[in-house]
Amino acid sequence: MSYDYDQVSVPDEGEAVTLVEEGSDELDVPDHPVVPIIYGDGIGVDVGPATQQVLEAAAHATGRDISWMRVYAGESARERYDENLPDDTVEAIRRFRVAIKGPLTTPVGAGFRSLNVALRKELDLYTNMRPTYHIEGVPSPVTDPGAMDMVNFRENTEDVYAGIEWEAGSEGAEQVREFVEAEMGFDDTIHDGPVGIGIKPITEFGTKRLVRKAVDYALENGRDSVTLIHKGNIMKFTEGQFRDWGYEVAREEYGDEVITEDTLWEERDGEAPDGAVVVNDRIADNMLQQLLTRTDQYDVLAMPNLNGDYLSDAAGAQIGGLGVAPGANIGDGRILAEPVHGSAPKYAGQDKVNPTAMILSGRIMLEYLGWDDAADLVYDAVEHTISSGTVTYDLERQIEGGEKAATSEYADTVAAEIERLA
Ligand code: NAP
Repeated sequence: MSYDYDQVSVPDEGEAVTLVEEGSDELDVPDHPVVPIIYGDGIGVDVGPATQQVLEAAAHATGRDISWMRVYAGESARERYDENLPDDTVEAIRRFRVAIKGPLTTPVGAGFRSLNVALRKELDLYTNMRPTYHIEGVPSPVTDPGAMDMVNFRENTEDVYAGIEWEAGSEGAEQVREFVEAEMGFDDTIHDGPVGIGIKPITEFGTKRLVRKAVDYALENGRDSVTLIHKGNIMKFTEGQFRDWGYEVAREEYGDEVITEDTLWEERDGEAPDGAVVVNDRIADNMLQQLLTRTDQYDVLAMPNLNGDYLSDAAGAQIGGLGVAPGANIGDGRILAEPVHGSAPKYAGQDKVNPTAMILSGRIMLEYLGWDDAADLVYDAVEHTISSGTVTYDLERQIEGGEKAATSEYADTVAAEIERLA
């Protein structure tokens, strides 16, 4: 594939990650891949370089290398090229398949669509994956944070992310009201006066490919269950349908490897076959309280976009908050890893914030490359660093006797720990 980059240059060294064969999502990974990186806005300039340093250390310690390709989005792209999301940035991630980004600011108000949403949709990164596990030594608001070891799969392209909305007072909103009232028979449903209207589409295609990703992950990683989270008791034809299509995947596509919870009780007295993944479902509001009360019963969760937004942030809080919560956007044979947190503009450039979330997002990226040894080193080094008391301000203020490190000092310590452990 050839593409001329006008605005950025491809590194002289390193090769592209490719597909083993067209149509599969299995990757052919060289030992020295080119990896596009977007530092992002605000604290991106702090956490981006810290992450590069740690991932490079892990690559070197396992006999590999990474050639970074700096690409731009958000404020840095506006400064350089007077546009928010240059084609070259999207094209680089499309071509090199494995990439990582820091946070991007989304100004509140009309006229600015989220660049994060644009990137995910443009590259069809339809799964937002957020592992939530507790790292020894990270302070948490709950008494037993170690009980949580979940991986959330949030649909990334439809539901509220489809962005079908009409502003109150607009011609579009009035047309939709007219249609809904006159044509569809909901004539006594919407109050008089200005109304904002949104539509949330949930498709069979979007649901099934997301649920497959969650079930595949559970099978590949020896997880016990996949829970479908929905609000199908109220939104029967969107969220209820998500549940039903999710169960269809479980019943029709995996044979004995997957069993649904009702079958488990009806036919097997609650006893799952060895190694099988159990698929069950929970209503979203109930699930939010079960996260706290029955934390250890949940394993892999699959959900539509908005539920996933709420639930993964709530779960992230239980394991220590935004400074340590990693994530990744995944499509077929393509990944854009990114931390859960935003650009925290008030701390930008101060060498202060916690880079752990982006470093652990990099760990997901390394696993996606199949570099499990390097990924394990990153995790072990982060855990040793934090539990030995070297932490950034956000954790230090909650730990007695913790030693406050700058972002760069923390990254130096993690990188040195990788060398020591290798
Ligand atoms: P935020 O940037 O995540 O920051 C909220 C607070 O969380 C910070 O003030 C800080 O708390 C803490 N925090 C976040 N990242 C941290 C880190 N690495 N280390 C330590 N503490 C950290 O959320 P926001 O203020 O709501 O959003 C700011 C901008 O980011 C918005 O434009 C939003 O749209 C955008 N955003 C982008 C993404 C993304 O790119 N994926 C995600 C979320 C939000 P304390 O002040 O208490 O220390």
